Amino acid sequence: MLVDIFTIFPKMFDSPFSCGVIKIAKEKGVADIRIWDLRDFTDDPHHKVDDYPYGGGPGMVLMAEPIFKGVRSVKNDSAKVILLSPQGKRYTQSEAQKLATESHLILICGRYQGVDERVEEGLVDMERSIGDYVLAGGELASMVIIESIARLLPGVVGNFESIYSDSVDYFDPPLYTRPREIDGMSVPETLLSGNHKKIKEWCDGRREKWE
Ligand code: SAM
Repeated sequence: MLVDIFTIFPKMFDSPFSCGVIKIAKEKGVADIRIWDLRDFTDDPHHKVDDYPYGGGPGMVLMAEPIFKGVRSVKNDSAKVILLSPQGKRYTQSEAQKLATESHLILICGRYQGVDERVEEGLVDMERSIGDYVLAGGELASMVIIESIARLLPGVVGNFESIYSDSVDYFDPPLYTRPREIDGMSVPETLLSGNHKKIKEWCDGRREKWE
């Protein structure tokens, strides 16, 4: 999978993209992630990427031109262009699974009061929000989306089957690891029994209670 991210703060991606599943996905060659600075797609000497909104109003707007230039320089027909926006449709785990099958994703990180509307009209396939709150920019939202996809790519997580059983819609039984007892709280005896039938019954029982 090829991922292109357009931002005015490329440095924000340095640390999160050099750890964990995203690092593994890059090292294994299942994801090629490129971070582009929108200022590199400006023509003026000050590399201006924002301007005042027509019609007035508070704050600045991210200009369409650098975004058009940048995205068009990498886009081919198979690419899916995603604009991060608090007003977009809510991003979900089932969408992460669908996007994990794409070959090319392009993410546009907004800033300031938002992005010139013509970007959405002329360039974007999907507008997505990661939750009902307003961030200062789309960078953290992009990282959330890319991490949720990277862990679904083949070879990134050891037990590939387990990640597809992960779900926000289903109950996961409680998990325990060593030590067997801490602060007077013990691991349930059934889980220590080694009896797989009993363990499955115990998990199913928990799931039924939850449902
Ligand atoms: N007034 C703007 C609006 O309602 O769209 C808020 C813009 S916000 C301060 C700046 C940028 O942060 C947005 O253009 C978007 O890219 C990103 N952003 C903020 N909250 C987000 C969220 N919940 N999900 C995805 N992106 C978000």
